[in-house]
Amino acid sequence: MASMALKSFTGLRQSPQEQQHPHFIAQALPRQQKFRVSAAKTSPKLTNRNLRVAVIGGGPAGGAAAETLAQNGVETFLIERKLDNCKPCGGAIPLCMVGEFDLPLDIIDRKVTKMKMISPSNVAVDIGQTLKPHEYIGMVRREVLDAYLRERAEKNGASVINGLFMKMDLPRNFEQPYVLYYTEYDGTKGGVGEKRTLEVDAVIGADGANSRVAKSINAGDYDYAIAFQERVKIPDEKMVYYENLAEMYVGDDVSPDFYGWVFPKCDHVAVGTGTVTHKGDIKKFQLATRNRAKDKILGGKIIRVEAHPIPEHPRPRRLSGRVALVGDAAGYVTKCSGEGIYFAAKSGRMCAEAIIEGSENGTRMIDEGDLRKYLEKWDKTYWPTYKVLDVLQKVFYRSNPAREAFVEMCADEYVQKMTFDSYLYKRVVPGNPLEDLKLAVNTIGSLVRANALRREMDKLTI
Ligand SMILES: Cc1cc2nc3c(=O)[nH]c(=O)nc-3n(C[C@H](O)[C@H](O)[C@H](O)COP(=O)(O)OP(=O)(O)OC[C@H]3O[C@@H](n4cnc5c(N)ncnc54)[C@H](O)[C@@H]3O)c2cc1C
Repeated sequence: MASMALKSFTGLRQSPQEQQHPHFIAQALPRQQKFRVSAAKTSPKLTNRNLRVAVIGGGPAGGAAAETLAQNGVETFLIERKLDNCKPCGGAIPLCMVGEFDLPLDIIDRKVTKMKMISPSNVAVDIGQTLKPHEYIGMVRREVLDAYLRERAEKNGASVINGLFMKMDLPRNFEQPYVLYYTEYDGTKGGVGEKRTLEVDAVIGADGANSRVAKSINAGDYDYAIAFQERVKIPDEKMVYYENLAEMYVGDDVSPDFYGWVFPKCDHVAVGTGTVTHKGDIKKFQLATRNRAKDKILGGKIIRVEAHPIPEHPRPRRLSGRVALVGDAAGYVTKCSGEGIYFAAKSGRMCAEAIIEGSENGTRMIDEGDLRKYLEKWDKTYWPTYKVLDVLQKVFYRSNPAREAFVEMCADEYVQKMTFDSYLYKRVVPGNPLEDLKLAVNTIGSLVRANALRREMDKLTI
């Protein structure tokens, strides 16, 4: 999860002005407000009813989308196949998400203020010294976060349906609705469920990496990583070490193209790793991650094993007619850090806002152009983030010498500040040119040193 800022030119962080400016505070902290839209529009006014939108999937993307729609005049249906779903996930969220989505502190298991980056040769660098007293990375359990967001959407007027979405009929003309087919579960038919249909004007696909909504609109595929995670209950005295600390391990042994992690949860730790290029070896990488952390998790008992795909890039198509994809269904996980919770919730909300604006608070029909505004805003806001992290992954995760250099670089205070600021606040501002130059020189120095070390090691082993 830790996003890394290299760069001279684009970091994602909050400027000091933004930190103090009352507008920023108003924007970042309170939960999203209701907003009333009154644009001049030509699409038909709806009579005797409001716009009907189905959100498929009740993860962070779906919960955030449904809440925003329901709060702002749209008749909203949220279809989730498993209301106690426990999404395989590290559960790390940035500080800005707590404010922007008004999350209560009691759903946050741990406030991580220290991060250890551990190199292939087990050199550990402590990150976190630059954090201000109120800053932290939140650690949540997904079953708790997702349920909270869904229930809040329901309180705001969304109809939450416990159902498995199967497929949909697309309208043949502008007047016709989308017809959704789903199996509804109400606990009375021994889990078999009842087949039902639902007619709506628009659909948001928030149904994750294996999205059926994406298939329904021929959205195309993306490359994906497979991520594997074990929840390990460790003795209380060992848990003290992970009180407010998370670990990231890099090296060929734990993953050829990603990192291994130990993240603290309420009463256990989550140990995991991922890979795109060597999916068949994932269990070997998991074992190596567990081995690297073995002194700290000794005596631990594995209480849950989980695995799930993580998208590598957006789908070729994220929109068709009045259907839009958000979150993992769209492919919004960042490279290098593997972060997707915040981006899921944010994209769900942004898509819902485009619908509200286009429909003038649910009073008019929308068209593809209205939904396109969500994509335009999304790409404009987050494209640099995805690009920077993509480059970082390519540079620093490609070999053990590069990873040694990466960890060495993380000891730099400026890097730490950039890293945490970009991760915690998701803001794009230029870095400090002098510090950036120093960083570039140091990075090259680290890479040269790490490569020289490898050559010496090679000589010794010949
Ligand atoms: C092992 C692992 C660790 C990760 N760690 C982190 C981390 O620490 N921090 C971070 O930010 N990101 C992390 N991620 C990524 C993060 O989990 C995802 O990006 C995020 O969950 C995306 O949210 P979403 O709402 O788009 O989709 P999901 O969370 O996948 O939610 C989709 C929902 O749709 C439902 N659904 C699916 N199909 C249907 C259907 N046909 N009908 C009805 N409902 C359906 C599912 O039950 C689910 O509730 C991790 C991912 C993995 C696999």
